[in-house]
Formats: sequence, C-alpha cells, structure tokens
Amino acid sequence: MSRLSDRTRLIASATRRGEGRRPVNPPLERASTMLSDDPARMQDPTDGPVYGLDGTAAARELKAALCDLEGGIAAFLVPSGLASVTLPLMALLRPGDEVVATDALYGPTRRFLNRYMAQRGITTRYHPAAATTEEILGLITQRTRVLLLESPASLTFEIVDVAALAQACRARGVLTVMDNTWAAGLAFRPLAHGVDVSVQALTKYVGGHSDLLMGAITVADADTARAIGNSLDDMGWHVSPDDAWLALRGLRTLPLRYTEQHRSALQIARWLEGRPEVSRVLYPPLPGSVGHDQWSRHHDGGAALIGIEMKGGSATAAHALMKQLALFGMGYSWGGFESLITYETPQLGGRVHPPVMNGALLRIHIGLESPSDLLADLDHGLAAWRDAL
Ligand SMILES: *Cc1c(COP(=O)(O)O)cnc(C)c1O
Repeated sequence: MSRLSDRTRLIASATRRGEGRRPVNPPLERASTMLSDDPARMQDPTDGPVYGLDGTAAARELKAALCDLEGGIAAFLVPSGLASVTLPLMALLRPGDEVVATDALYGPTRRFLNRYMAQRGITTRYHPAAATTEEILGLITQRTRVLLLESPASLTFEIVDVAALAQACRARGVLTVMDNTWAAGLAFRPLAHGVDVSVQALTKYVGGHSDLLMGAITVADADTARAIGNSLDDMGWHVSPDDAWLALRGLRTLPLRYTEQHRSALQIARWLEGRPEVSRVLYPPLPGSVGHDQWSRHHDGGAALIGIEMKGGSATAAHALMKQLALFGMGYSWGGFESLITYETPQLGGRVHPPVMNGALLRIHIGLESPSDLLADLDHGLAAWRDAL
C-alpha cells in the first residue's frame, strides 16, 4: 500500500489489529509505582515502564503517533510548550556556547535565553525577523552551537528558508532546533528539511480544546535523542496520564480541525485585507502577505492565526474593538476550537530590532465557528474602532 495520508495514519494507529479484544483507545492508567512479579526483573524495561515517570499507555501511544507524524526516531513529552523549547537548549548547550535566534521569538523562550541561559554563560545573538539566509548565517561564530528557528515568527509572521539554513548549519557543525507550533506537525516537516530537533506546544492545535498544557520534542538522530532523553531524566519532568490521553484524543481529529480553521482564516484574512481600517494583514497563506512566497514553497496549510496591523489607532481604539466583539474570547494561547483576540503592540517592545508598524497590532485566532458569523462580529468591532479613534 502506498504511504497513507496524515489523517488516515493518525486514525489507523488506533484501529491496528492483532492485539485481541480491546477498546479503541488506550486505558487511562494513573501510576507512580509499577509492580513486578520477579525481583530479578524489577528494572527490566522490556517488561514495561519501571516507574510512573517512564509514562503509561496513553503517553507511549502519543509519542509513537507524533514520531510518525514528524518523521522522527524518538519523541519526548514535557509539561508545556515552553518546556519543549527549553529542554533541548539545556541538553545541547554548555557554558561559553552561543545561540543564534530570531528577534521575533516566542516571548517566554526569549526570556529563558536572556535570563536563565545568560546567567549560565550562554549568550544569544538575535537576527531581525526578516533577515535573509546570508544575514542569519553571518551571525554564526566559532562558539555558535545552536540555531533556534521559529518560522513563521511570533506576532509578525516572517518566514525564513529553513531548509537552506539547516543544510548550512549542518555543514558548520551547528545544531538546528525549530519551534514548529504554528505548523502543528502538519503544514511543515522540519526534520524532512534537515532540522535536528522539532518541538511544538501540543497545548495549541494537538490538544485543540483549550484544556491542557503539554509540549513535544521530536528528533531525527540517536545522539540528539540520547542527550535530550538524559536531560529529561535529570530534570524529572513528567506529563499526567490524563493530559496525554486528552492530547492523543485531540491528535485523531487534528488534520480536520487544522484544515477547516485554515480555510476560515483565509476567508477572514481576505475580508480584512479589503477593510479601510486595516493597513496590512499578516497571514502567510494570503497572497501578498508577509511570508507568502516562502510559505508557498514549503508549506501545506497553516495555523488560523492572523496579525492585523491597523491604520493608526492606539490601545484605546484596540480595546474598544475588542470589547465590542461577542464571538472572540479575549485570551492568550490559540489552536483551540474557539476564536480569540489579543492586542499585541506592547509585546513588540522587547525586540532588539522592533518592526515598523503603521498602527496598532491585533492578533486573532479563528476557531470552528461559522466564518460568516465571525465576519459580522468583526464588522461591529471595526465600527467601535472607528468611533474610538
Ligand atoms: C504557545 C507557544 C509556546 C508555549 O506553549 P505553552 O504550552 O503555552 O507553554 C511555545 N511556542 C510557541 C510558538 C507558542 O505559540
């Protein structure tokens, strides 16, 4: 049989045969202590997990499915998306090493580099979010050990040439780690493009229901897997069986939700583009948007996350728009079934190379509601914006 599509494989991994009569889904096992029958085999991992920290059935199935989706040899689960970025960096970097990263990094990742890592003698050089491949490679020195990628970039959605960067880094002995939350393991495959470590916040699309926090790390080679696995053991981090079970449930319907939300987002992005209150719509799948050319080359779909650069306006007008909306929750995170809105201008302040904006920056996440209802709601919001200017 030819290679099955993602949506089939994510379901076929549940209906596999040859295991006798059983439920479709793995049992929800809550465990710290695991009991053995034979004192000589108490430490033997071939008999199953030795201790609760090793993870129970749902975590094992979730890791196997993520490995298959991302094309890795090993996957690790950690308690949050943030931990999925920090753990590989802790595992791979030593005092004196340097990291090169985009200036548009997810805020808490940047804080980790600037505080925790800097205190331990690891420095970060930030490139402008819109830098070319040559400009990024130009920041690499003898001390650079890791290139940390996030593409599209947080909030401003620039896309870099990941394949070219990964190839050039490999030739120089620099490891690449990519935060792939936006693509959810579906719209872009970092490992297939030569990236060493692909991480994502399962909190977002894989969970899909705004009810859990978790991160996943997927790797392509045994040495990196060993380094990250050892650090995970050393830290003692763990994800609850209940959360692993929920993430696995989310994974079964991920492709359908992701595709549908992308379709709605594209419709809404097109509508926003025609609005006189809007200066630029930041949505790589939208023709003419930032990142669109690079997106067309390597991506298949995208997260339903739209940056809206307004014409002028301040926090007051942005807040008036947000208060007017009835269908968009005001809240952080994204990837769930519900639409959300945030005001992001203040978050741009921490950058070394702040982007030039023509006005207030809003970000919306498009959920599974009917797009026509969302458009009508946004129309009301924009009326409130105009009144507040
Ligand atoms: C949300 C997010 C994270 C962190 O995920 P948490 O589970 O909230 O810690 C990391 N990277 C990106 C790009 C994110 O959007």
